[in-house]
Amino acid sequence: MINKMKANLNLGSIAGIHIKIHWTFVLLFAWIVFSEMKRGNSTEHIFYHITLIIAVFICVLLHELGHALMAKKYNISTKKITLLPIGGIASLEKMPENPKEEFLVSLAGPFVNFLIAIVLYFCIPVKEFLDKYLLDNAFLMSELNIQSFLFYLFFINVGLMLFNLIPAFPMDGGRILRALLTLKTNRVKATYIASLIGQFFAVIFLLIGLVYNPFLIFIALFIFVGAFTENKIIQQLNLIKGHTVKEAMMTNITTFNPSDSIDKVIDAILKGTEKDFVVVLNSKVVGIILHNDIIENSSNRNCLVKDIMKVAFKSLKSNDDLKLYYEFIQTNSTFFLPVIDNSELVGVLDINNLNEYLLIQAKLT
Ligand SMILES: [Zn+2]
Repeated sequence: MINKMKANLNLGSIAGIHIKIHWTFVLLFAWIVFSEMKRGNSTEHIFYHITLIIAVFICVLLHELGHALMAKKYNISTKKITLLPIGGIASLEKMPENPKEEFLVSLAGPFVNFLIAIVLYFCIPVKEFLDKYLLDNAFLMSELNIQSFLFYLFFINVGLMLFNLIPAFPMDGGRILRALLTLKTNRVKATYIASLIGQFFAVIFLLIGLVYNPFLIFIALFIFVGAFTENKIIQQLNLIKGHTVKEAMMTNITTFNPSDSIDKVIDAILKGTEKDFVVVLNSKVVGIILHNDIIENSSNRNCLVKDIMKVAFKSLKSNDDLKLYYEFIQTNSTFFLPVIDNSELVGVLDINNLNEYLLIQAKLT
């Protein structure tokens, strides 16, 4: 949904990967300027801070590119990299299932920060700065020069590396942990353990965030929801493994003709439990009608099925792997698919059916 709202600004692309920046960055910059002014700091000071934040996010971008380029080595493409005030997200087409590949793809990001830190370490007298800083905390604030700038950047990169290595699945460290666990047990169990540990860390981050840093609260929520969702997907995929569409599909269904009136469809919705329908003409499937479109046009008495039916739709075969449907609904907004064998309608599959099937399978195992 959020993408449809044009929440991201396009920054261009690197190696075929779209780089996007979230609109909330405006708030981040506004917040910096506001808090600096409140403290009575000079324009020079504000400019220094803004430049530092931009430099940090260039490091975050390089971190994400590290993941993306390592994934490319294993033929996994990256659609986009999104920069958010709480960090970056590389939208990989999928995570590698091979533990060695997942390990290397996850490690590549923090490794980039490690490399940046090493380069900076040799560019500036880090130890000298650190000694002065420990003696006088205000020392850096009084020196707004390129050296103090790089000193900050050095520490931020060390921080980014260490923070991302915390085993809070689905953060990098958590993925590394899952990859290592997969060497000892199966991926389903490894994900379960890693996500429990991830949720534990999310609670710790939330508590620290409530006291010290509001950004940590967002990161905590992101980790908690991420760990829960990824674990659920892996567990559900395991439940339907080896099962076919035929086992879960609904066969007791109502179909309509393109020339049927919408009143007839509404009647079927009210009298039964079906919400979406298949349109059939001369025993051939010609389209589907979806609940939203039916309700939307329900007041138009002249409306016919053919006026609201979708003629471009995806279908399944009864012998297809159920995993196909599961993967389809993860990336599409339509959950209703007809099942067609030799151009004959044999059933339909929707999300309620799948959920029921999952419940039954979970009881059986
Ligand atoms: Zn990362």
